[in-house]
Amino acid sequence: MAVIIDGRAAALKLQDRLKARLAALRERGIVPSLAVILVGENPASLSYVGAKEKALAEAGMGSRDFRLPEAATQGELLSLIAELNADPLIHGILVQLPLPPHISEDSVIAAIDPAKDVDGFHPVSMGNLVLGRPGFLPCTPHGVLVLLRDYGIPLAGAHAVILGRSNIVGRPLANLLARREQNATVTLCHTGTRDLASITRQADILIAAVGKPGLVTADMIKEGAAVIDVGVNRVPDPRAKKGYRLRGDVDFEGLVQKTSFISPVPGGVGPMTIAMLLQNVAQAAEGVFHG
Ligand code: NAP
Repeated sequence: MAVIIDGRAAALKLQDRLKARLAALRERGIVPSLAVILVGENPASLSYVGAKEKALAEAGMGSRDFRLPEAATQGELLSLIAELNADPLIHGILVQLPLPPHISEDSVIAAIDPAKDVDGFHPVSMGNLVLGRPGFLPCTPHGVLVLLRDYGIPLAGAHAVILGRSNIVGRPLANLLARREQNATVTLCHTGTRDLASITRQADILIAAVGKPGLVTADMIKEGAAVIDVGVNRVPDPRAKKGYRLRGDVDFEGLVQKTSFISPVPGGVGPMTIAMLLQNVAQAAEGVFHG
């Protein structure tokens, strides 16, 4: 029977440790503040933005909310970002993804001042990550790494198999785990991977970030593997108040007997993503990284 990873408890521990840093900033008259930009009304995005702003408020950090209509132009969004880049009271800028299809996410991310890139998606932050230099780490991969460390899951020499190569999860996580400090051997899988199960069965650590509910089944893992489920999928459920429930990329019930550690959805990686965002906003206010 697996140890069930408690992402909420791990996130609270991080938030607790952040208090001293926030107090030191307050003494200098600084309240770390994040500008949160949401374009349109994607229901999942609205709920993520709400959760982030709530966490910032609870931590005593500031947030300024910018809601743009779905029809907003790329030019309007870029001018808002230029204003926020120049605003000394804003330490971090977060543009909630996905953006409507008429707006180029790459152009928008590239317009953010790298010193305010608390999501860690800017090419400068990604470059620093790949080169192993200091910089903002993207929140979800960083959160996964902290969870693995917190639970003492051995990384050195372990075979970590990651499902999904997105720029926000799989790709940066592969780089982090392959760093000398972690020393894992990493395999990065995607839709072009042949015979996925034969690879996942070799994993000491399996991390699923594909966005396919229940894709990873018990027959795809070896006995005693540690499994981290990044997936957040809304599956219809007439019994649920909202008409859906959240499900991960992993068949949790099927895997819980076979794994050594497993993270649930919700309550696993999600809270860590938010906790790492708060860390990055504090770091931005401390002025550690200048891009
Ligand atoms: P994404 O951009 O859609 O990327 C999905 C990746 O999975 C792609 O690389 C895709 O391969 C791969 N993939 C899809 N189906 C596959 C299959 N059957 N076998 C192997 N690989 C497959 O997704 P994302 O933004 O990384 O998000 C992934 C999941 O994590 C989603 O459920 C999302 O909601 C969740 N998420 C959670 C958090 C959190 O805080 N908990 C944060 C971010 C994302 P190709 O590259 O070949 O298309």
